[in-house]
Amino acid sequence: MPDNIADVIVVGAGNAAFCAALAAQEQGANVLMLEAAPQEESGGNSRFTAGAIRVVYDGIDDVKTLVPDLTAGEIESTDFGTYKAAQFFDDMARVTRHRADPELVELLVRESFATLNWMRGKGVRLIPIYGRQAFKVDGKFKFWGGLTVEAVGGGPGLVAMLTDAAQKRGIAIHYGTRALELLYNGNRVEGVRARKGDVVADLRAKAVVLACGGFEANAEWRTRYLGPNWDLAKVRGSRFNTGDGIRMALAIGASACGNWSGCHAVQWEMNAPEFGDLAVGDQFQKHSYPFGILVNASGRRFLDEGADFRNYTYAKYGATVLQQPGQFAWQIFDQKVKHLLRDEYKIRQITKVTASGIEDFAHKLEDVDAAEFLKTVREWNKAVRADVPFNPNVKDGRSTQGLAVNKSNWANTLDAPPFEGYAVTCGITFTFGGLRIDSDAAVLNTDYRPIRGLYAAGELVGGLFYFNYPGGAGLMSGAVFGKIAGASAGTHE
Ligand SMILES: Cc1cc2nc3c(=O)[nH]c(=O)nc-3n(C[C@H](O)[C@H](O)[C@H](O)COP(=O)(O)OP(=O)(O)OC[C@H]3O[C@@H](n4cnc5c(N)ncnc54)[C@H](O)[C@@H]3O)c2cc1C
Repeated sequence: MPDNIADVIVVGAGNAAFCAALAAQEQGANVLMLEAAPQEESGGNSRFTAGAIRVVYDGIDDVKTLVPDLTAGEIESTDFGTYKAAQFFDDMARVTRHRADPELVELLVRESFATLNWMRGKGVRLIPIYGRQAFKVDGKFKFWGGLTVEAVGGGPGLVAMLTDAAQKRGIAIHYGTRALELLYNGNRVEGVRARKGDVVADLRAKAVVLACGGFEANAEWRTRYLGPNWDLAKVRGSRFNTGDGIRMALAIGASACGNWSGCHAVQWEMNAPEFGDLAVGDQFQKHSYPFGILVNASGRRFLDEGADFRNYTYAKYGATVLQQPGQFAWQIFDQKVKHLLRDEYKIRQITKVTASGIEDFAHKLEDVDAAEFLKTVREWNKAVRADVPFNPNVKDGRSTQGLAVNKSNWANTLDAPPFEGYAVTCGITFTFGGLRIDSDAAVLNTDYRPIRGLYAAGELVGGLFYFNYPGGAGLMSGAVFGKIAGASAGTHE
């Protein structure tokens, strides 16, 4: 158990924590990181990600700044477009139904490019997300949905690069060390009490940054705050994010903030394990649903699969699946769209059925009312607006007409066998409710005054996401607020 007194203790060792530690170190602070997980399971949810990061950029020159080794061929064959600050603001406002805290959103959007560039300067390398965020149409890739770059090596690569950056700069990381409570003298935070194995010790510091995730891996809190059935959701990522940071801060008078009954949750392999599996990473997700249909146990469709690009619907549709009878659904595709299915549909650990005849197929969909499913498909095939051309790179307006639940884009008849079905349930990613912070990432008390010596970043910050979330904003918010929290903590006296 470490007994050194650091200037700054950072709780956690995911993306937000590393950004905080690096920013504090930049201020000359002596930084200690505490990570509950053993080293082999460390890196939090950040390690489970694809490493996709939402960032504002104004055309190819900005993309080249982030990805200096883009080849001439890539530039020639790609329309990167732009993702301007105004679009990021619009996306945050739209998906959160105008609930997101304007001050936090301002920082998230305005600091996104500079922060990602800063991470690049620390050793994080990035590449464009070909294939998943840009399809090749007529020989050219066109990016859509504001999500253009990812870390080399995905989440594991991101965590490895950040760990390397921290260790090179003398930042100590203590694995298998869980922060238990904050040391607080009634006026300021003076450190944390932590446990490593059987040893509990008080570790003193001038400032503490909490970057230890939400409460998604805590079934009891999920049920308490998100509601019935959330105990049944699968956890997509780390089993270590049990809400400790939030609990520790609330215990000394921090203010709760944000969408405590809301979370990010996606469609996830029905038979996935209770928590994430690092060997599979995010591949249990099933994110090509905009090109097919979804049916529940009653054999009926229940949501608009093509309401928007995947990036703007995937994070809320997990909850919709959880509300279905039996908490599952089947995603259905035919051969016309098979080439658009993401790599995650090719993994071995998958619940998949296939058949050439639609009757046969209907009976293979386990626990689904086959007769009702066949009726759904008949009605579906008549309702598709085949006069509108199909284009996966734009919201093509190829919709259905006259159904109880219409599809707004990318509707195709189901008539090119063999048909394929993939069973999904709800996988929770992270919770939205958390701590109230100010623009220095200082944690506020219930009088909205900063708690001296306490800062927060990442999933446990409340107020940014409500109801839904734009893909890639999690890593970016951890990075932006991690950097701010670290810089504030590193200069705290
Ligand atoms: C499968 C999956 C895919 C995703 N894909 C993307 C993506 O492509 N792009 C994107 O932007 N977002 C993605 N996300 C969301 C993203 O992972 C999170 O928003 C982000 O990584 C959160 O970073 P963080 O640093 O706040 O938390 P984490 O990375 O989860 O780090 C928290 C750390 O705190 C540690 N910890 C917890 N309690 C304690 C304690 N008491 N003491 C010490 N340590 C503790 C944990 O072990 C963990 O290492 C994905 C999430 C998952 C699960």
